[in-house]
Amino acid sequence: PSPAPARMDLDGNPVAPLTICMIGAGGFIGSHLCEKLMAETAHVVLAVDVYCDKIRHLVDPAPPHLAGRISFHRLNIKNDSRLEGLIKMADLTINLAAICTPADYNTRPLDTIYSNFIDALPVVKYCSENNKRLIHFSTCEVYGKTVGSFLPKDHPLRKEPEFYVLKEDESPCIFGPIVKQRWSYACAKQLIERLIFAEGAENGLEFTIVRPFNWIGPRMDFIPGVDGPSEGVPRVLACFSNNLLRGEPLKLVDGGQSQRTFVYIKDAIEAVVLMIENPGRANGHIFNVGNPNNEVTVRELAQMMTEVYANLSGEAPLDEPMIDVSSSQFYGEGYDDSDKRIPDMTIINKQLGWNPKTPLKDLLETTLTYQHKTYKEAVKRQMSQASAS
Ligand code: UDP
Repeated sequence: PSPAPARMDLDGNPVAPLTICMIGAGGFIGSHLCEKLMAETAHVVLAVDVYCDKIRHLVDPAPPHLAGRISFHRLNIKNDSRLEGLIKMADLTINLAAICTPADYNTRPLDTIYSNFIDALPVVKYCSENNKRLIHFSTCEVYGKTVGSFLPKDHPLRKEPEFYVLKEDESPCIFGPIVKQRWSYACAKQLIERLIFAEGAENGLEFTIVRPFNWIGPRMDFIPGVDGPSEGVPRVLACFSNNLLRGEPLKLVDGGQSQRTFVYIKDAIEAVVLMIENPGRANGHIFNVGNPNNEVTVRELAQMMTEVYANLSGEAPLDEPMIDVSSSQFYGEGYDDSDKRIPDMTIINKQLGWNPKTPLKDLLETTLTYQHKTYKEAVKRQMSQASAS
């Protein structure tokens, strides 16, 4: 294959090939980012993770045309002295490693807090001490609940954007009480954001913070009982996919009234590549990365996924395709929810000229086609084994 063409940044200057230390490269986002960097750039990736199932096609072994471009380093950042060496070898570190499934926040709050705050500390420290750039993955959940959610249900101000649109440099972070352990994740993420911001202000760390708003697509999470524990609870896309593959009703938590905006992983990855290649425009900023045009309630998402899946699989939907469950039944005590998540896009538009492209219907078609193709046979086998035993 011919070498990748020279890349230009947004100001028309050539982009020199970088060495990138990508921590959490084996996860959902990391796998898509590795693929994109390998296919379209000349950057070198030091892929760090505890497992590599989602990037096996890139690293185990690396295909000949990627020789020298990507290497896998199996290590846990909690306790491995090789981490600093890898960060020193790289021009840029991207930290994606974290527990980020809501089912864990209230049931494993200690792991959640350690993984999102304590384990991220050495990464920030090594970047700061060695003058290395850091792109840190945070979450839209740092915004917590919207200001409008505290108004009476039918209050007209709830319809005013200033009561719900989430702005990086203006909106407050509003979490529930400590007994609602759901917020352990948001709170840990908020504190690591504040620490990185302070390293920038006091020690000159060059940083970019990314706040993903429900990025979804192929390889997200796991299907319980197939490539994850049968009692495991992934995020909503994988929960609903699992229900559809098994012919079970989709479970709506507390009525499915919460609202989310979903963005296609491949759109979001383009924003990350712009950050990587335009440090002058990305450093010192926090970026919302989401698709404000793809808003639905969870109930509407369930309806859309049911229709899309019926069309592509040829299996008729159930008479009652959805059932209601309480959050305490589904997640246990201490669950709470973000009511609504509309990202303000002003900063990312101005700095990087990025806009999401893919409408919800299209991204659900692509993703559910992948889920059906990848998992249908395995789910069938697993269900027949379970009923035989
Ligand atoms: N949810 C649901 N049924 C499920 C899984 C999730 O109703 O089987 C709801 C959940 O309560 C939340 C929304 O879907 O309101 C999105 O949940 P997800 O786990 O994807 O993560 P979040 O967006 O809350 O970070």
